[in-house]
Amino acid sequence: MHRFLLLITCIIAALAGNLGYAIEHVSLKRDGQSIHVDGKIIVEAQDGGLLVQDTSGVLWAIMPDEMVHRESDAIPFKLADHDEMSERLLKEFSDGFRIHKTAHYVICYNTSPAYAEWCGSLYERLFLAFNTYWKNRGFKLSEPELPLVALVFNDRSSYVAHGRPELGDRVLETIGYYSLRSNRVVMYDLTGSQAGGGGRGSSAAQINQLLMRPGAERTVATVIHEATHQIAFNCGLQTRHADIPLWVSEGVAIYFETPDLRSSKGWRNIGGVNHVRLLEFGRYLRNRPADSLVTLISRDERFLDRRLAGDAYAEAWALNYFLIRKHPKEYLAYMTVLSEKLPLRYDEPEARLAQFKAAFGEDLEQLNTEFLRYLRTVR
Ligand SMILES: [Zn+2]
Repeated sequence: MHRFLLLITCIIAALAGNLGYAIEHVSLKRDGQSIHVDGKIIVEAQDGGLLVQDTSGVLWAIMPDEMVHRESDAIPFKLADHDEMSERLLKEFSDGFRIHKTAHYVICYNTSPAYAEWCGSLYERLFLAFNTYWKNRGFKLSEPELPLVALVFNDRSSYVAHGRPELGDRVLETIGYYSLRSNRVVMYDLTGSQAGGGGRGSSAAQINQLLMRPGAERTVATVIHEATHQIAFNCGLQTRHADIPLWVSEGVAIYFETPDLRSSKGWRNIGGVNHVRLLEFGRYLRNRPADSLVTLISRDERFLDRRLAGDAYAEAWALNYFLIRKHPKEYLAYMTVLSEKLPLRYDEPEARLAQFKAAFGEDLEQLNTEFLRYLRTVR
């Protein structure tokens, strides 16, 4: 009996060794509340601060002065599967929420089941298209470690109430977002607003009809844009809290955002011209500063400044579009470098620039000329 126990302990220890992670138990105090986190340590900072991922994929940045107690055991860290994730979501959102599961998603909603199903099938198609797209270009993506969670609220006000603690007043400017912290996509039922207040769709086909109306396209694009971020961060293209330049992470999301609601299986529009962003880029070109490429590549500031963000997003789309088409090999190599970046290590602008030049060549002046010449031919 004793030997048997020992054997089991050894196997557990070996497993933990294989996975490289034991469970860390951390107690902390935040805003007067006691919180307990069980998870794996992603980063341990020199000052004692921790980045911990819990078993449902939530990332906890824990400051040294918040920490009350921590200990670890040899039990291997295991992420939640679809059932465990559903259970936890229903515990967290107990008030009238339900679960819709698909192959890769757990959708937690309190709107109509038809809307949750519509989201699920849209997301699965996007997931497939995204994976196929990169595979065909030679980038090997991985299966997500966790089911991807989407929260769908039945109206805008409950969506805003949920998002405000994380986004502040910025939530008012959004209709959906992807949270790096929780790894969830959050949104609300768009058919309420698109239908002019009444007549919500009761089947997936009706919802499609409603959201294919002129004017709804940009709304759906936002939902897809946010879901693309989630896929990119869960399939190995990017790592959460790694220093991925925004022109890349946003550019990729924009590249995929054009909705394709007509086809029930494929996604024909991927990589197509994003006419909204092309138009915006055309307008930006009239007054584009000479150092625009450098500021876009080396810093995130333009994306974070409300007055400059629109132009930065448009230029990010244009640059990704150009590089994917005209320098696919170099682009792939650059994406591979970015995909290997570790969390919470931030590069200086010079380092970002050097990484870009290592992939696409030293002569940015010439690349800029080629970029603008090419974009002028895009229709
Ligand atoms: Zn985005």
